[in-house]
Amino acid sequence: FSIAPEGVEHALTVAVRVRPLIGANQDERSDILREMDKKVVVVLDPDSEKSYLDSVQHRSKEKRYTFDVVFGKQSTNEEVYDLTVGRMVADVMSGRSATVFAYGATGSGKTHTMVGNEHDPGLMVLAVTSIFRNVRSMKQTDGEYTVSCSYLEVYNEVIYDLLVQKSTALDLREDPNGNVKVSGLRSLEVSDVKDIMKLLETGNARRKTESTKANATSSRSHAVLEIQVNHASRPGVHAQSTLGKLALVDLAGSERAAETGNAGQKLRDGANINKSLLALANCINALGKATGGRSLGYVPYRHSKLTRLLKDGLSGNSRTCMVATVSCAAHVRSLPLRPEQCTISGHRL
Ligand code: ADP
Ligand code: MG
Repeated sequence: FSIAPEGVEHALTVAVRVRPLIGANQDERSDILREMDKKVVVVLDPDSEKSYLDSVQHRSKEKRYTFDVVFGKQSTNEEVYDLTVGRMVADVMSGRSATVFAYGATGSGKTHTMVGNEHDPGLMVLAVTSIFRNVRSMKQTDGEYTVSCSYLEVYNEVIYDLLVQKSTALDLREDPNGNVKVSGLRSLEVSDVKDIMKLLETGNARRKTESTKANATSSRSHAVLEIQVNHASRPGVHAQSTLGKLALVDLAGSERAAETGNAGQKLRDGANINKSLLALANCINALGKATGGRSLGYVPYRHSKLTRLLKDGLSGNSRTCMVATVSCAAHVRSLPLRPEQCTISGHRL
């Protein structure tokens, strides 16, 4: 886990999770992707023949990528949680902001990682569980904590509330202090992990999914769960309140529209997804450059709904974590495995 160097408050972590082959995919070439140790992934490009120069120079088509942490095929959501979101919870309890993304092609395991299921709850559920545990362990003298959640999706650059039956398009508003708010977005106070599970289930059923050639059901929307932890200290001379925010984001598939063979409506989805993803990649890149002692330069938050929405949790002294999900299955191989296409915080994905 990367700790920002002294003087740099913003900390960015990039993790990679390798999905195991499942069922019918067992015959896929699992050797194209190997996790070497806790930080390195080796990718063998099966589509490209060794060039003459490569064979002369004994270079293989293997490429090594180093990340802050690599989770192998056997990893559980709990292991992923411990080394990513788990490290941010204390900050959120004390009033800071943090953001976690699952980034990857459709079918690579984003929703499995973020939402999971009953037997293997994902990061969203584990985060809430841990926040509740923290709240319970606080003493009466520590003041009062309230935890609430909102769940929204960004689809075609329009924001919808996933906590209401039929959401209308919601507006992003910015107050004079630069705080961004989604007007009319429902925020529910929660006190139980079961509440969250139910809330995620109904919310996910409302997500706009569309069948594409890339996968039977492909999520074309970005889903953002925001957990707000409000802390009011006991009334007295030094009474104060803090608001910590943790955003957990299940991004839309990172495959390019052109590759899914779509046209018309779906292609427009693809173009807009790319707009938000591209804007996000640009922001993360700018933030990544700030680590290593350099100061934070211009970060282009305003270029998409998603980045405007997440501005708080991507800037200042907040923490950001990207979990890039990858798989060897042929139908899933896409952007994250094409190194020439995407660079995130100096790590080529
Ligand atoms: P995405 O949300 O990126 O499109 P999903 O999370 O829906 O992908 O994963 C696709 C399929 O693979 C699902 O059936 C999911 O249960 C399974 N899967 C994904 N990651 C894992 C994993 N780490 N271990 C076991 N099964 C997984
Ligand atoms: Mg999904």
